[in-house]
Amino acid sequence: MKIEFYRHNIGPRERKNIHQVLNSIFITTADETRKFELAFSQYLRVRHTLAVSSCTAALHLCLLALGIEEGDEVITTPLTFVATANSIIHAGARPVLVDVEPGTGLIDPVQIEKNITRRTKAIMPVHLFGVMCDMKSIRRIADKHRLKIIEDSAHCIEGRRDGIRPGQLSDAACFSFYATKNITCGEGGAVSTNNPRLAEKLNILRLHGIDKDAYSRYTKGYKHWDMKILGWKYNISDILSCLLLPQLERIEELWKRRSSLYDYYIRSLQGIAGIDFLEIPPRTRSAYHLFTILINNRDRAIQYLQNRGVSVAINYVPIHLLTYYRKNFGYTKGSFPNAERIGSKVLSIPFYPKINNQERKFVVESIKKFLTT
Ligand SMILES: *Cc1c(COP(=O)(O)O)cnc(C)c1O
Repeated sequence: MKIEFYRHNIGPRERKNIHQVLNSIFITTADETRKFELAFSQYLRVRHTLAVSSCTAALHLCLLALGIEEGDEVITTPLTFVATANSIIHAGARPVLVDVEPGTGLIDPVQIEKNITRRTKAIMPVHLFGVMCDMKSIRRIADKHRLKIIEDSAHCIEGRRDGIRPGQLSDAACFSFYATKNITCGEGGAVSTNNPRLAEKLNILRLHGIDKDAYSRYTKGYKHWDMKILGWKYNISDILSCLLLPQLERIEELWKRRSSLYDYYIRSLQGIAGIDFLEIPPRTRSAYHLFTILINNRDRAIQYLQNRGVSVAINYVPIHLLTYYRKNFGYTKGSFPNAERIGSKVLSIPFYPKINNQERKFVVESIKKFLTT
């Protein structure tokens, strides 16, 4: 038995779209991207979406567009993928990591407030594994201290908390369509925002800073254009973005299948000595992006499961323990005890709609076997 960590859901409609784009004249950012942006905004109930080349690019552009620069501090979590904090460094600012809540693994609003200084300009919460952070509390803190909020929503398109969706209480939310995310085109990302001025700025920044994008330059005949600010090359090609709309149309159906897989795993694994789960807070609908258990002897479990053909991943080794962050920011073991305790036990197991009953049973039995041998 070989159980992949992830299998995508690209099907006949996506393949047909790709053929259509390849047969068209203009294969970079054009109609397919715009159609997706509109549909994504409608799904999230947010006014504007701009598709870009990755979530990392989206986070970086939001920081720039919101005026975050050298000397500024941005508060985020150590329990995330490096892209989150790297984007802050790309913008010239300093990532200030603060510890997570022990039960959920999400950034702790109390720790955010404790670590605000005169230099703090923004908060970058991460909706880990699909579970939204406490956005109401984070919004209150941001209002009190006049801070921006940029959500790293790479794990969370379908999630809600206290009736709020990503992009609704922040300045902007950033999404990923990387190869293992809930909807994917291999590489891609998006920013959603309710702020039309921010959306306009992001639109200019994602294509060099020039005031007309390539599409309207060519389709509407040549027009002179100007560049007033320095932007980046972060647009996405229609060859990729055309894969997203069909998946977005199935997003709730895919979510339901992960939701029942989540229930199956919880039912089958809870109460077993040596395993624990992160909490999902009340009034929260997880996007069910990853299924991550906390397991004793985690590194031995990785070996054991991989030897049986069950692919696993670690989300995450807390980033303050990585060489670059230790060296440049002086973090050490012990800096963030909650993130470290969780990070030493996390193990993500195969979790996607295409897993069949035999496979999911094999995953559960393998974990049980590991814990009893
Ligand atoms: C995947 C991921 C990113 C980066 O997404 P890209 O589209 O690959 O740039 C950022 N943050 C988190 C939490 C992620 O899981």
